[in-house]
Amino acid sequence: MDAFLPEHNEEKLLLFGYAIASLFFISVLRGLYIFLKTGNPCDFVFVIGCTVSLGVLWQTGPQLIDDTVNPITSTSPLPPITAAQNLFHQSLTIVDMHADSLLWSYRNLNLRSSSGHVDIPRLLEGNVAIQTFTIVTKSPKNMNFESNVNTSDSLTLLGLVQQWSPALIFGGNNLLARAIFQCQQLHTFSKLSNNQLVVLKNQIDLRNYLLHRKQHPGKTTAGVLGIEGMHALEGKLENIDKLYDEGVRMMAPVHFFDNKLGGSAHGVTKYGLTEFGKLVIRKMEAKSMILDVAHSSTLLLDDIILFAERPFVVSHTGVRGTCNNTRNLADTHIESIALLGGMISIAYFDQAVCGTSVKHIVDAIKYVRDLVGIDYVGLGSDFDGSVEVAFDTSKLNRLTSFLLDDGGFSKEDVKKVMGGNALRLLQLLLPKE
Ligand SMILES: [Zn+2]
Repeated sequence: MDAFLPEHNEEKLLLFGYAIASLFFISVLRGLYIFLKTGNPCDFVFVIGCTVSLGVLWQTGPQLIDDTVNPITSTSPLPPITAAQNLFHQSLTIVDMHADSLLWSYRNLNLRSSSGHVDIPRLLEGNVAIQTFTIVTKSPKNMNFESNVNTSDSLTLLGLVQQWSPALIFGGNNLLARAIFQCQQLHTFSKLSNNQLVVLKNQIDLRNYLLHRKQHPGKTTAGVLGIEGMHALEGKLENIDKLYDEGVRMMAPVHFFDNKLGGSAHGVTKYGLTEFGKLVIRKMEAKSMILDVAHSSTLLLDDIILFAERPFVVSHTGVRGTCNNTRNLADTHIESIALLGGMISIAYFDQAVCGTSVKHIVDAIKYVRDLVGIDYVGLGSDFDGSVEVAFDTSKLNRLTSFLLDDGGFSKEDVKKVMGGNALRLLQLLLPKE
């Protein structure tokens, strides 16, 4: 998740919020006035006003917010695709290492939505074999790249609009509860999917799934659960076990603010790996969970490079070589991650690749390839992560066609970028059973 609203969209959303809030408060004030005057709280305007405002908020609010923060727009038309290129695309095993679709709990991922970027019908249409569903549990208001404190949370409002339970919105330990809620959502979608969605937890699952997929091409997709920001542990090492039991297999220490494990690239102090962070990483390694260093501060990344004993990934990022900001990876970090056998997954949104076109994504892929080789780069869309992108996952074949037309990538190279490299890492890093 990266949460950057186009300004005109933000204004529209604020206007909607103010209109609903005004109707609600006027209705409540009117009810209170009538109650004080007559002793009877059942005033017509009060009841109708409250019902209409809450009804509108709950019926249209989630989708309006979703459409506002997850638009599909492109600075240039999508590249064309030939029948032969599409056939090649359909033969690929595609892996996307990052999407925040579970945050939008009002959506049924078994149904095709006109909002956002990912659901099971669109994953099947895009021929995505494995989608990592990453969980966000807290997101500061007015997020920016430079400096964010851990004192506000825009997910409280999003949860309220999506009618989460009060325990998830306001309760103690609600970050862990929010993570578990999102895990269970994916398991429920899987159960109700008619075998169209499999949740992968280990290497045996992965082997069986790939075999099944070969026998039923185009009929099935899979999810892996991840978390961005280990403040979801609520500061307790034993909560790793709880999240593991819920199916989480990949975790990133930080998101948009510094926490007990380390500093965020967008935090205030941006410190390195803490003692607690070291304990967490060792425990994750012992449980064969995948470490994701997206959003890490420079110091945290430096420390993890020295400390980690298994290869690790950056689930969604840009590179400073094509888009120079604190969000993105410096060359030295790309080199170290590749040297340790990890992978850099390129995100699709403006602040990661400095544009919203397929070419911008491919430029970043090329940059990593030229720096460290084709074996260390993959896809990490950040779909549904409050980002503006050029296409949803159903149109992923356009990325394949652009890579094929570019001339600089062989078919073997395209296979690796679109999922081969990620699959190699999942086969290596997921728990054996
Ligand atoms: Zn993110």
